[in-house]
Amino acid sequence: MQAEIVSIGTELLLGEITDTNKVYIAQQLRAIGVDLIYCTTVGDNEARIAEVIDAALDRVDVVITTGGLGPTVDDVTREGIAAATDCPLEFHEWLYEEIGERFKRFRNRMSENNRRQAFAPRGARPISNPVGTAPIFILETDRGVVMTLPGVPKEMTYLMGNELIPYLKSALGSPAVIKIHVLRTAGIGESQIDERIGDLMTLSNPTVGLAAHPGHTDIRIAAKAGNEEEACGMIEPVAGEVRRRLGTFIYGTDDQTLADTVIGLLEQQNLRLAVIEAGTGGCVSEGIRAAEEHGVLESTVLLEAIADLEIDHGLELEKMALELANKAREGKPELIGAAAVQNSDFDPVTGQDAGVAIAIVGEKGRQSRRYDWLVTRNDTAGYVTNYTLSMLWRLLATGD
Ligand code: ATP
Ligand code: MG
Repeated sequence: MQAEIVSIGTELLLGEITDTNKVYIAQQLRAIGVDLIYCTTVGDNEARIAEVIDAALDRVDVVITTGGLGPTVDDVTREGIAAATDCPLEFHEWLYEEIGERFKRFRNRMSENNRRQAFAPRGARPISNPVGTAPIFILETDRGVVMTLPGVPKEMTYLMGNELIPYLKSALGSPAVIKIHVLRTAGIGESQIDERIGDLMTLSNPTVGLAAHPGHTDIRIAAKAGNEEEACGMIEPVAGEVRRRLGTFIYGTDDQTLADTVIGLLEQQNLRLAVIEAGTGGCVSEGIRAAEEHGVLESTVLLEAIADLEIDHGLELEKMALELANKAREGKPELIGAAAVQNSDFDPVTGQDAGVAIAIVGEKGRQSRRYDWLVTRNDTAGYVTNYTLSMLWRLLATGD
């Protein structure tokens, strides 16, 4: 079963509110094995809503709208759906009474506008809304099913869980699950991963996809099957093949973070970490804060800028980082020294940074590198943290 979410509201298009409803609905659909293949956003305009619903019915089995069911003139979802499906709106007395009851209970005066909420397209099944005033409906047509949800998140989640999900589950027949397994890599770029496992990325079930983040890339394997066990069985051989081709770059799976992995390895090897940072705003220490609780963080020194360092300022950035990592470690075999320095020479025209150097020094070896990421100063923190962790991980796990 393939679905499309249609988010309705001009304020979504204007960027005034974030479409959190879409995210929620997408997660719920995934959990029951409905394939979401399109998400569309449209303003409060009847003709354009009709156009979007019409296009959606051409390409999916189920269209789920959110928003625009209120009583005001700009809430035109009902009209748009009626126009797209050729099912004119019909008045339902019982819905109108029910809306009236709700107003009475909250001692509010019902306005004439609320009458509009008692209309639904011909042939639709109206569903009352016990947590708000706008009733929803499910309309089955020859071209597919259209379901509506209110825009107000509290009402949307209630009706999704209590009405639409049970409907979709029974329409799906045998329940399907989508199981996702993530293999997390560091120290290898997205394009190199693509070169090694590109053929696997053309599979259709399970699917294999990449999600690149600063300093690490996730490989996501998703299988759809009748039950969890079957889905796991489908994922296993593909995950095995990915591991065979990329094994040394995989630091963890699923929710495991690079920081978790590094902390685990430090613990295993009875090592502690000493960090010196200059000009980075302390992002590395921030990123490994959990290391403190595990007792593997020996010390951190945070300096505002390179100018505050008690070392030769004439050194190249990378040499500077190495010297600092050495300094942090103080030659102690039970310590790993890590240093990150960020040059404060910042190019205001390109918004780019003049560079960052990271160095790691331990018993097993030393590593240092200068990076010139094409990102603005504000965005470098994630890169600095993840590249430092990635270098730590390589040294702890493989010694290089
Ligand atoms: P109402 O009966 O309250 O008018 P409605 O179904 O007409 O409900 P909208 O008027 O479209 O819904 O939206 C009501 C409020 O719900 C918005 O002001 C916004 O705060 C929130 N909202 C609407 N759509 C979304 C969305 N897609 N994601 C998150 N919040 C939303
Ligand atoms: Mg509204």
